Amino acid sequence: RAIARDLNGVAEQNPAILPRLVPVDEEDPTVFETRFLRKISDLGEGHFGKVELCCYDPHGDGRGELVAVKSLKPDCQGQLACHLRREVDTMRELYHQNIVKYKGVCSEEGGRSIKLIMEYLPAGSLKDYLPSRKVQTDPQRLLDYALQICQGMDYLGSQRFIHRDLAARNVLVENERTVKIGDFGLTKSMKEDKSYYTVNEATECPVFWYAPECLMECKFYTASDVWSFGVTLYELMTYCETSPDKVFSEMLRSPEDQKTVPVTVTRLVEMLKDGRRLACPAGCPESVYSLMKRCWAFDKDNRIQFRELIKELEELLY
Ligand code: ADP
Ligand code: MG
Repeated sequence: RAIARDLNGVAEQNPAILPRLVPVDEEDPTVFETRFLRKISDLGEGHFGKVELCCYDPHGDGRGELVAVKSLKPDCQGQLACHLRREVDTMRELYHQNIVKYKGVCSEEGGRSIKLIMEYLPAGSLKDYLPSRKVQTDPQRLLDYALQICQGMDYLGSQRFIHRDLAARNVLVENERTVKIGDFGLTKSMKEDKSYYTVNEATECPVFWYAPECLMECKFYTASDVWSFGVTLYELMTYCETSPDKVFSEMLRSPEDQKTVPVTVTRLVEMLKDGRRLACPAGCPESVYSLMKRCWAFDKDNRIQFRELIKELEELLY
């Protein structure tokens, strides 16, 4: 039954793969038309893209469905169009309860630009959600979110994808019980020819979520996602109230020269080499902090893997 359900899900999302399961005369449900898409509000924006809440109502009878629509920001058109296309291609292949569901695409200007249509998660990202839900959300719940993120990431890895931007801002909340990984592919452009980034550019590039091998060689592995998961777990345990950006920047500032020394990624790497890490968040159990530290082994081969994280989190939970 589970397999049948999965197959139906796959067929639903990829009518091209299993054509016989979809009636021939039915129109492609993954093709959305611009003229039926009505913007309701802004949901958020990153460096290249913006996400809007829209209502898709092709029959014009007011029974349209709410969808989240991602498009490139007007000043990012052109050379960055491939990012969004790649994101569509990635999401199209993913089917897991902890990954945001792909719904389709909407092409515009005769196919020169596209919009990504996905399911709408009303509660937004963990960063939007958690700070104001501290009372309702007990530590067990936080660990359960962590477990779900690991399950989604384990699946992603099994499909041979590397997320490269795992962070609380990119984990969306379906309801108080379920979280899903989002943001596939738009913000991962780390130029191969660059050897370091200054923290001024950290807004473009989430260096404080990056493992040493990403910072030093621009190489990303599934183990690099594990490092980012460690930072995400840190965010979770602080109810997203402590920003790793801030804490790392403080740690990097030299005591004798508070403001003038530019904080470079070179110095971040040195600090990580020295074994310095984010400190255990207030109130976070040592057992959970030790999981973070196992995500932050300097050498990627010494890092814990998602499979094992799942086991460890389950043990802590049940
Ligand atoms: P970017 O690549 O620009 O960072 P994201 O996919 O991370 O784009 O989306 C930016 C923000 O928009 C997210 O942090 C979240 O607040 C909101 N958002 C994105 N997708 C959805 C969705 N499916 N439902 C609800 N909110 C969303
Ligand atoms: Mg994002």
